[in-house]
Amino acid sequence: AKAKEDKLSLVIYEAGMDEVHMRQLRILRCLPEAVEKDQLELHYQPKMNCANGKVKGAEALIRWHHPDLGFVRPDEFIPLAEQAGEITRITRWVCLQVIQQLLVWQQAGKQLSVSLNLSAVDLMSDGLADFLSQAVASSGIEPHLLTLEVTESAIMHDPEAAIARLQRLQSVGLRISIDDYGTGYSSLAQLKRLPVNELKIDRSFIQHLAESEQDRMIVRSTLALAHDFGLQAVAEGIEEESAWTILKEFGCDELQGYYFSKPLPVAEFTQWLLTQEEVISS
Ligand code: C2E
Ligand code: MG
Ligand code: MG
Ligand code: MG
Repeated sequence: AKAKEDKLSLVIYEAGMDEVHMRQLRILRCLPEAVEKDQLELHYQPKMNCANGKVKGAEALIRWHHPDLGFVRPDEFIPLAEQAGEITRITRWVCLQVIQQLLVWQQAGKQLSVSLNLSAVDLMSDGLADFLSQAVASSGIEPHLLTLEVTESAIMHDPEAAIARLQRLQSVGLRISIDDYGTGYSSLAQLKRLPVNELKIDRSFIQHLAESEQDRMIVRSTLALAHDFGLQAVAEGIEEESAWTILKEFGCDELQGYYFSKPLPVAEFTQWLLTQEEVISS
């Protein structure tokens, strides 16, 4: 009777399980084979020079298309991949793809830089730093063309260890960017100690720039802070020309957002590049 009861409650539980939870379980089940079955793809979103509007590079953003689950957003599957221990494999795949793409662009005479996103889990062991320094060295790409985006919260999980690993990556010549800057909890004291090259101001501060005096104040002082620390400042989520105008006046270095282009499959990105004026470096 006990077993029957358990089984019944399990059935009830499953029937009552909301769709989100069911989908998460299916995602967890399908994740391990996403790399092998070639279901992952990188899209590229341009990063523009704020002063002159020319392309400087791109951010690689992962896309997963599963035959049954359909399109799964990175916001949805990355946290699950972290939990399931699948992120290491995914990050390595991203790194290799991006290095390959850098070589392709280099051979086509385009000095583009590329940013990729690291997960908190990637900073929890030495594996990634070993893997990346090896991959960069054997590819022959110029390491400063590759930027690693990490969020404040990914670093603050275990600051000492994360800082040491970021230092190693930086010592190889790779650039480090703090993504979604302003949404985490890192203090200025911590920022001072971080081995970073770039601050990427979160799009929540950018999206209402034209209407919000408060957002303009936050962004202006963040830009001053970045520059005082000798860091490049990037603003993400530019959707309107008015934001560009303001950020240009504030002296922001680089911009990214739907106003210029959404993330595109590599073939479309290459097409889009042709519509742009010459690509400049540094
Ligand atoms: P993120 O690194 O902050 O990337 C920026 C996100 O904002 C991207 O969403 C991008 O498509 C979106 N975006 C760009 N411009 C605009 C704009 O003008 N307006 C609006 N509303 N959104 C804009 P996406 O591609 O869905 O990625 C979401 C997040 O997933 C990323 O945030 C990043 O944290 C994570 N992610 C993406 N690819 C990877 C990856 O390869 N590895 C890891 N670990 N995380 C990734
Ligand atoms: Mg990013
Ligand atoms: Mg971001
Ligand atoms: Mg983000």
